[in-house]
Amino acid sequence: MRESKIKKRERATEIVTRLRRLYPDSKCSLNYKSPHELLTATILSAQCTDHRVNIVTKDLFLKYKRPADFAYCNVTELAKDIHSCGYHNQKSRSIQGTSLIIVEEYNEEVPDNLETLIKLPGVGRKTANCVLGEIYKVPSMVIDTHMVRIMGLLGFTKTKDAKKIELEMMEIFEETDWTNLTHMIIDHGRAICIARRPQCGECVLADICPSSSV
Ligand code: SF4
Repeated sequence: MRESKIKKRERATEIVTRLRRLYPDSKCSLNYKSPHELLTATILSAQCTDHRVNIVTKDLFLKYKRPADFAYCNVTELAKDIHSCGYHNQKSRSIQGTSLIIVEEYNEEVPDNLETLIKLPGVGRKTANCVLGEIYKVPSMVIDTHMVRIMGLLGFTKTKDAKKIELEMMEIFEETDWTNLTHMIIDHGRAICIARRPQCGECVLADICPSSSV
């Protein structure tokens, strides 16, 4: 039976309430000390775990301290420095290209709007929304693999297209919950609603999840 938008919104509110109780300290798991460091870490996190990114950036941010250090670096050396994050050639070019624009066009400041951010090399909606939510406190929905999978299981979307899901979820969830929702869903995806073996018997959402096996 098709669920009305009102019912979906009610269920979404209840899901947020329960997840917030379960994960009261949910937050971005990438380590950073400046907007540019978060932008760099987020570019590195594509197809890589946050844990691995944090290991790499620990030394990386000691070696490259400012956006200008990345902008005018030897890109081959940068690729070596980020090698273990995967896609190192592509990511090093993105980080250098993005840093160069930030230094030369934005006075070393990371832009604070989606339209400008997504024009930077290697910066998609996911990275841009992460920076906007974390740094500039703009309500932003980051659609990563956990969000795609779990929003599907929760019956809120049928597509796997991240941009479509972002727009659909913005209709269902309260704006004030957008930024934190992703962090809570990531925590839930790691602890309970694990890919290929969701622990529905231990899930606080089991009675309101259409995919529950219990
Ligand atoms: S009930 Fe199962 S499928 Fe639904 S969110 Fe919980 S663990 Fe995932």
